Amino acid sequence: MENNIHKLIIIGSGPAGLTAAIYASRANIKPVIIDGNEPGGQLMFTSYVENWPGEKSILGPQLMNNMREHAKHFGTEFIAGVVTDVDFSQKPFSITVNDKKQLQAHSIIIATGATPKRLNVPGEDTYWGKGVTTCAVCDGAFYPDKKVIVVGGGDTAMEDASFLKKFTNKITIIHILDAFTASHAMQQRVINDPDITIYYNSTVTEFHGDKNHVTGVTMTHQKTGETMQLDADGVFIAIGLNPNSDPFKHHINCNKGGFIDITNQTRTNIEGVFAAGDVHDYRYRQAVTSASAGCMAALDAERYLSENNII
Ligand SMILES: Cc1cc2nc3c(=O)[nH]c(=O)nc-3n(C[C@H](O)[C@H](O)[C@H](O)COP(=O)(O)OP(=O)(O)OC[C@H]3O[C@@H](n4cnc5c(N)ncnc54)[C@H](O)[C@@H]3O)c2cc1C
Repeated sequence: MENNIHKLIIIGSGPAGLTAAIYASRANIKPVIIDGNEPGGQLMFTSYVENWPGEKSILGPQLMNNMREHAKHFGTEFIAGVVTDVDFSQKPFSITVNDKKQLQAHSIIIATGATPKRLNVPGEDTYWGKGVTTCAVCDGAFYPDKKVIVVGGGDTAMEDASFLKKFTNKITIIHILDAFTASHAMQQRVINDPDITIYYNSTVTEFHGDKNHVTGVTMTHQKTGETMQLDADGVFIAIGLNPNSDPFKHHINCNKGGFIDITNQTRTNIEGVFAAGDVHDYRYRQAVTSASAGCMAALDAERYLSENNII
């Protein structure tokens, strides 16, 4: 660090941020990570991850701890706290942590991820990651021939239901409106599938379980208030994601949903500020794609620092 100016600050400590840190620290850039409220990111709240190359099955928190230790081993510095504001209008860039601490950096990687929208009903927190999840691609294979519920009516819910058909014919979709909002073709595929039961105008109002795993839900009809108990081995909540871009969205270009716009892989519209992972990627939303974006962002930051004679 020269005159208290960091070469690279990485905001966020999920797969994207930690992978960026591993690459940057091995390149001798001495990166600093700001952890955020959820050190380790979304995978800290799930159980088994079975799509991380080289690990047939690993607990999410264990995987994230391994990544953190890896980054630490090569010299990454971690700062606890949440970035609450930034100033990208002049260089070096400034960031504010917890509304008070000011840090400066020549380059920044934003890897603040996204927060899946929740229903905020009883039992959801208890069974989050214990059968209640947001990722069919990640967890669908855990439910061969099991009863699964998809909550939602947009493209993601349709995709999830279609994906789950690879494993089970016992699929129920619960949607709060009287019609799906997904594209016509995707809707038709689901509506015409005799193995998929659909409840419209309904939502999940409680999750039930045996303490270790979800076992079912209470569904409430939005118009009549009538309730019904449904058994479920897995519940996939597909009602959207909020990108964690609030502190940045008035300083860099974001799309309508708040996801950070990038060009040329990881570059934002501010030279020297890069983005990686779920905070810009609303399409793939996987640990491995986030990690790979983190790698690219670190390489791009390194090139930027070198081209500007900072390293
Ligand atoms: C229940 C569940 C199960 C999943 N299972 C799998 C799976 O099996 N396999 C798979 O590939 N993917 C899975 N996913 C998806 C995967 O977790 C995400 O795609 C991945 O974690 C995204 O990584 P990321 O680094 O972009 O962001 P995140 O993991 O979301 O991490 C974001 C980081 O940014 C920090 N942060 C946020 N705001 C700020 C701020 N203002 N200041 C500082 N830091 C901040 C947070 O504290 C956090 O450390 C799952 C997701 C969920 C919710």
